[in-house]
Amino acid sequence: MQYRCPQCQSPKIMPQAQAGAPAARPVVPKSLVFLIPAIFVLLLLVLISIAMWIFGNGAGSTLQVATVVVFIVCVIAGFLFYRDLPDFKISMQAFMQSQKKWKCRECNHEWES
Ligand SMILES: [Zn+2]
Repeated sequence: MQYRCPQCQSPKIMPQAQAGAPAARPVVPKSLVFLIPAIFVLLLLVLISIAMWIFGNGAGSTLQVATVVVFIVCVIAGFLFYRDLPDFKISMQAFMQSQKKWKCRECNHEWES
């Protein structure tokens, strides 16, 4: 299995959807599903805190506690994702190998493996 274009040897290839067959998807670890929204919530809370420091009398204690709690959730989810990473890589490799149709982004060459 080669991950290069057979025509121009570019590594910039992408899988093509196979007609008829349902698109195979790599298994996304639950920790990643958890981590991404947690990071968004954390960013939102930090932005609200900054806004309150600028326009008000400082962030309320509830908001500070919430920010710290969400930060801890991010750290835990990040750690879990780090542990899931080897499995995620294997899943991605299996997904790459199950893919039969490819297209090159450099020269638009299409081929089947
Ligand atoms: Zn190519």
